[in-house]
Amino acid sequence: MNTTDLPETNEYNSLVNSLDKFHLVTHTDGEGLITYANQNYLNVSGWTPKRIIGKSIWQMFSDCSENQDIVNSIWDRLLLGKSWSGKVEKMSRDGKPFFVNMLAVPTTSNEGELQSALFLELDITEDIRLQEKLGEIAFIDVETGLMSRHKLEQVVNESIDKGLHFSFVYLTIDHYYTIKELQSADSETQLIQEFTNRLKRYFQDSPIARIDTNSFVVLTAFGDWYIQGFYDFLKQQPIYLSHNAQTLSISGGIVRFPEDQQTYVQLYQVALAAADEVISSGGGRIASLSAESHKTLNRRHEIDRKMLTALDRNSLHVAYQPQFDIASNSITCYEALVRWEDEELGVISPDELIPIAEENGLIEEVGAYVAEEAMTFATNWHRAGTDMGISINTSVRESLNPQWKDRLISILNDTGCPANKVYLEFTETFALKAEEEQSVLSQMSELQNLGLQFTLDDFGSGYASLRYLQHLPVTTIKIDRIFTEVLLSNPKTQKLVEGIIQLSKKLNLYTVAEGVVNEDQFNLLKKMGIDAVQGHYIGIPLPADQIDIH
Ligand code: C2E
Ligand code: CA
Ligand code: CA
Repeated sequence: MNTTDLPETNEYNSLVNSLDKFHLVTHTDGEGLITYANQNYLNVSGWTPKRIIGKSIWQMFSDCSENQDIVNSIWDRLLLGKSWSGKVEKMSRDGKPFFVNMLAVPTTSNEGELQSALFLELDITEDIRLQEKLGEIAFIDVETGLMSRHKLEQVVNESIDKGLHFSFVYLTIDHYYTIKELQSADSETQLIQEFTNRLKRYFQDSPIARIDTNSFVVLTAFGDWYIQGFYDFLKQQPIYLSHNAQTLSISGGIVRFPEDQQTYVQLYQVALAAADEVISSGGGRIASLSAESHKTLNRRHEIDRKMLTALDRNSLHVAYQPQFDIASNSITCYEALVRWEDEELGVISPDELIPIAEENGLIEEVGAYVAEEAMTFATNWHRAGTDMGISINTSVRESLNPQWKDRLISILNDTGCPANKVYLEFTETFALKAEEEQSVLSQMSELQNLGLQFTLDDFGSGYASLRYLQHLPVTTIKIDRIFTEVLLSNPKTQKLVEGIIQLSKKLNLYTVAEGVVNEDQFNLLKKMGIDAVQGHYIGIPLPADQIDIH
């Protein structure tokens, strides 16, 4: 028998003939040795009719264990007299993979012994390749053919791994949404494509990504002067839209790897910050981040990085600033202020620390730490026979946690601090959120029911302080330092402060003036009827061990 001929039964002849046209067909004996392969199979697999006969079905797959396991399980089913169907990867004679949907059908003897098997396959390699292409498209910006943001991250990470030196350049088209020629989607596409062409021409083989509608990133080994030259290049090669030459203005930021920043996220953030710096100074330039901003940003990263360790190692401290009560002529309260001094970073002021802690989520830890220390401080006064008030600053982020109240209550219990001696200070940003979030409001009123009091901090520095007095359970207001500062020199401020004091008396609120630094300010505020003052004139913030508790 000519081994590539069909088996000589009529059934097989007619069946295989009709399937022959579209399918890859192979046939094996009961041992899995190939006895027949049709032309389609030979075309795809690259085998010649002579060579394929007698090869085993296992040889049609790559010899990796994964694929061999699949053939074994197919064969096991056939041995049981059952058919098998599914998607498999096969291998051509020269080792190239191709993908098929396979149906394997056994023929068994009367005794149930496997005599032969028929394999019908449809070549789905094209479909698989298409799927892979679709996957790739996620990495490509369809409009420009540039890399997408995802791909950019990959390429940057690869370059970092290889230790390449490069500049990460963030570029954005200024005033993009007000370019008046961009009335239609077509003209927008045209502009972006023309702009892309210029980027490609100027930066040649550099990887370029499109980040959003009008922002791009170029990775280049060229130096700053060359990168900045793109601006002039763009002027010399104007883009025409509805026959008008567009003089595009662009802003950009440059960061160097490895000199400036070492990770993708940092490169991206700093390049963006550099571009923002350019934009806020009017745009139309490509620049590196100013040395000063660079320092600030690096310091931010360092603070962020070290904060958790600082909390763990107890390197945070609390300083207490006295508040002088006019009626009793004595100090009746201390405000707790967080302090952090680091060996390398020096003094980190709360104004630096708090916003970073709010961003990285450690604010709850910081807040709990300060509350614990502060309440312990108040408890020590209580035990010494004086009920001293303690004022604790609260960040909005802490109060958004549904456990905010419970945490405070457990600190109160742990420290044994009298609840009615605790004042929680909050600012307008906090108040704004509290108004929106029912859970903040309800936690506030529960705390109030326990005896805690609320102080509206920095009163007058925002824009809606009066409104909050109506809605929130406030008992004290603190007039912001900016008013005290100009009190003596500005008659209008004097009237304003006097007005605030009178108003708060009508509302039964306790009024504290902050930032009092001299006797004249003190006397004037006293004359105006202020309830208490705080500031360097009364005392600077000090650690607990430098304060006499009596
Ligand atoms: P604040 O609540 O307005 O605190 C008063 C700030 O003014 C403190 O700065 C204090 O040291 C400073 N100060 C007090 N008296 C005078 C004075 O006579 N003259 C001048 N020039 N300054 C004075 P500090 O400690 O740097 O705190 C800054 C801000 O950080 C605080 O402003 C508060 O909003 C926030 N903060 C401090 N500690 C914490 C905390 O534990 N948690 C939260 N969430 N925020 C805190
Ligand atoms: Ca405060
Ligand atoms: Ca304040």
